[in-house]
Amino acid sequence: MRAWVVETPGPVDSGPLRRVERPGPEPGTSQVRVRISCCGVCRTDLHLAEGDLPPRRPAVTPGHEIVGHVDALGPGARRFSLGERVGVPWLGRTDGTCRYCRRGDENLCTRPLFTGWDVDGGYADTCLVDEGFAYRLPEGVSDEQAAPLLCAGIIGYRALLCAAVPPGGRLGIYGFGGSAHLTAQVALAQGMRVHVFTRGEQNRRLAGELGGDSVGGAADPSPEPLDGAILFAPAGELVPVALRALDRGATLAVAGIWLSDIPSLVYADELFEERRLRSVTANTREDGEEFLRLADRLGVRATTVGYPMADAAVALADLAHGRFGGAAVLHN
Ligand SMILES: [Zn+2]
Ligand SMILES: [Zn+2]
Repeated sequence: MRAWVVETPGPVDSGPLRRVERPGPEPGTSQVRVRISCCGVCRTDLHLAEGDLPPRRPAVTPGHEIVGHVDALGPGARRFSLGERVGVPWLGRTDGTCRYCRRGDENLCTRPLFTGWDVDGGYADTCLVDEGFAYRLPEGVSDEQAAPLLCAGIIGYRALLCAAVPPGGRLGIYGFGGSAHLTAQVALAQGMRVHVFTRGEQNRRLAGELGGDSVGGAADPSPEPLDGAILFAPAGELVPVALRALDRGATLAVAGIWLSDIPSLVYADELFEERRLRSVTANTREDGEEFLRLADRLGVRATTVGYPMADAAVALADLAHGRFGGAAVLHN
């Protein structure tokens, strides 16, 4: 089968991805093989390709927003039937036994496997998934529409929970790409007032179209104090900016897996009065199931830009350079 691999991590314009021919994988115990229809392009793929995230396996195939159909069952796999549509997310496996898994925080598992980082992902013809970590997808949502829900959507939803905005409260969103545009729809549907801060004309236009209460530049002051905020942009310099916009007792959640260095904070202005700064690390399967149900019920719709799988490297470069609004999705 054909698969893209991260050969030598480096700047996206230097071509860190290469498309290779390799044997199709055979499913092991409790695994299913998925014939990939679509795979979303997540910023994490870019961090992996560029070496911000250290490679955990040589020549790994990136991609963890995978939609496809089950085309082979491994020994003992019985959750899905052949031909069934499934989604394969970032959280590929947890050990189920560490102290975090046992207390219900499997997102903090000390021995996790992540799709497209530890195990081969979706920039390929087929992939494997442990059946317990795949999702059934809402009917009536196309493959292209469903792909971005699987990481951008789920992680954004967890970030929204972490930001702990009360009903009808004021949410700040810093950076407005694939994840933020889905999260904003959930927040708006739940009655929050949403203020968006982002660079890029396309992102600002999309934020306005989706119903943001205000849309400003990345580091603009907020029109009103915020009850919670999410930093989606991988820009540490925005942490103090967002903290200053928070009301007393409010939380800033950092949604990304990678962030540039945070400048020193001014305690009195940026953290005192019980403002909180917290990261968001992966997600539990419960977050995922809950988000997919909610997205279906609220009619959350991804704004997508399709690319043929052969153009995966182009899609990644376009993401790096902010050449589209919403989420890119690769098609086989
Ligand atoms: Zn664990
Ligand atoms: Zn992702």
